[in-house]
Amino acid sequence: MKIICIGRNYADHAKEMQSAVPETPMFFMKPDVALLKAGNDFYYPNFSKDIHFECELVVKIAKAGKSIDRQFAHKYYNEIGLGIDFTARDLQKKCKEKGHPWEVAKAFENSAPISATFIPKENLDLSNTQFRLEQNGNVVQNGNTSDMIFDIDTLIAHVSQFFTLKTGDLIYTGTPAGVGPIAIGDTLKGFIGDREMLSLNIK
Ligand code: ZN
Repeated sequence: MKIICIGRNYADHAKEMQSAVPETPMFFMKPDVALLKAGNDFYYPNFSKDIHFECELVVKIAKAGKSIDRQFAHKYYNEIGLGIDFTARDLQKKCKEKGHPWEVAKAFENSAPISATFIPKENLDLSNTQFRLEQNGNVVQNGNTSDMIFDIDTLIAHVSQFFTLKTGDLIYTGTPAGVGPIAIGDTLKGFIGDREMLSLNIK
């Protein structure tokens, strides 16, 4: 399976990163070993001193497709989960400065925690779905899909132009503002609406 992550899909996050809002969706990928299944702790890696959380809604692809037309994109997913796109911000800064690829900053082992359960999309209004991340009980990110620059169907149409999407592939759909550093001892909890989707200890 593939993990596809959308960059800068919320204007307020692009602004906090002092990045321009893109005209077409921007994406990068993580390997399958980046996935951190629910119930596991995250161990702070020794190659970074500035790992940040980015809480994101995650779309699970339910049917293989290539060059999917936007109007049919909704047929290619049934469920929405919640994930974190861990980012080594210090390494990412160096990559950006040098124009180097982002993998060391974004695609490392366990950098993509994922919720244990997914919510059927019929149970959500995807044009107005609220989600949030709490760090040690404090709300640090509060997002709503209504603020997405590119909606899920547009993302699927865009990404599938370049390669086939397969059943089980995950699309992390971008983070709202409020990203920040984690520390050893932290507990992160993610919610869609009021439903707790994810709980993660940093060790
Ligand atoms: Zn992200």
